[in-house]
Amino acid sequence: MPADSAALVAALDIGGTKIAGALVDGRGGLLVRAQRPTPARQDGAVVMAAVADVLRELRACGLWPRVRAVGIGSAGPVDAAAGTVSPVNVPGWRGFPLIAEVGRRTGGLPATLVGDGVAMTAAEHWTGAARGRANALCMVVSTGVGGGLVLGGRLHPGPTGNAGHIGHISVDLDGERCACGGRGCVERIASGPHIARRALDAGWLPGPDGDRSAAAVAAAARAGNEPARAAFARAAQALAAGIAATATLVEIEVAVIGGGVAGAGDVLFAPLRERLRDYATLSFASGVEVLPARLGSDAGLVGAAAAAAQEHGLWGALPGR
Ligand SMILES: [Zn+2]
Repeated sequence: MPADSAALVAALDIGGTKIAGALVDGRGGLLVRAQRPTPARQDGAVVMAAVADVLRELRACGLWPRVRAVGIGSAGPVDAAAGTVSPVNVPGWRGFPLIAEVGRRTGGLPATLVGDGVAMTAAEHWTGAARGRANALCMVVSTGVGGGLVLGGRLHPGPTGNAGHIGHISVDLDGERCACGGRGCVERIASGPHIARRALDAGWLPGPDGDRSAAAVAAAARAGNEPARAAFARAAQALAAGIAATATLVEIEVAVIGGGVAGAGDVLFAPLRERLRDYATLSFASGVEVLPARLGSDAGLVGAAAAAAQEHGLWGALPGR
């Protein structure tokens, strides 16, 4: 497909709480948006009907004839090769043929499916903190921990669209059992709910509003609360070990961290950078930088569009590459 600067991509970002859609232009701008709540506890057809509503709203706009491809970022696991998704938080979708179902509702436009961590990575590489970097790990640290890789200047989704899923690398060999079935995973230590649990177990008391979120733990840590500070220090240590392993395996130059937990700022980033020195020790790994993500909640849409543009050759070389 020739580069076409007027081409648009219809992007979908499918998560456990919302299904967002947008028409995205070649500069990463979101021209039209649509959104529905995810009926996550209902059966698969009902969830698909919500996706269809979003697509119908996008198709109704006058810009739709310029759409050349569809980019889909979904909560994982995804199987891009098979065109199916099985999001942990959407039990009605197991091996659900999302590519085929979306294709039926978009006139057969070519579609690209990636996991949400890979989508966020594509966005940060295109217009965010990893822009201009040839080798990067980008991570979302939130309710879960996901990620993706840029290698040799290109997004590296892997055969099934899940490469770079750092949340389920083990950093604690005999650690606690993870929801994925493994043990001692990064997510089991560094996700928001596990940070909060660790702080509570160590004696942190939530404030009068009863807020038990990682953001509340971060506020307590900033105020000098020791159990709260220790919970973030442990999360930072797990992330540092995972980043160091990645740097040692594939020589990344930067690790970009987004998601709600990254909003803790220095409470997370200061111990993370310090602990990284303990684990990223070899000369080629020790220079890895750690940066906060630049794109917020639109990263999934922008990145789904970027992944589709890369696969289908739209927009020439994206500026980030
Ligand atoms: Zn795991």
